[in-house]
Amino acid sequence: MRKKLRVLYNCSNCPAWCCTYPRVEVNDPDIERLAAFFGLSRSATIKKHLRKDSESGRFLLRQRRDDYFDHACKFLDKKTRMCKVYHARPLACRRYPGTARCGYYDFLMAERDRQRDDSLIATTDHRP
Ligand code: SF4
Ligand code: SF4
Repeated sequence: MRKKLRVLYNCSNCPAWCCTYPRVEVNDPDIERLAAFFGLSRSATIKKHLRKDSESGRFLLRQRRDDYFDHACKFLDKKTRMCKVYHARPLACRRYPGTARCGYYDFLMAERDRQRDDSLIATTDHRP
């Protein structure tokens, strides 16, 4: 039996910072999965939901404005902070962070503790 990795973060207690990465790669099986999820053709899925990285030529998830982090994946629900395509999400999202700890979660918990605010959303952007 496959052993489950014990993780030291709780995504349901986080505003989904990892969904704000500007480059989330989408491979061929991911495109097929998203196409089936939306009931679209492969080309329509690419046109509507993906963009091509000018450097690598790979497909990436499209982003849109976000209330907390400037930009986030277009599939992130802005209010609930949940993935709207969870069962069809790309492999890169399924694998993240790939270790028992999540760096952002550690940062978030430290800041919430320091500022005594359990609803704090920690960002590294301190522009006025
Ligand atoms: S940043 Fe870390 S804790 Fe937050 S949703 Fe992503 S993996 Fe989960
Ligand atoms: S597909 Fe879902 S899990 Fe992946 S970045 Fe977008 S909202 Fe986050």
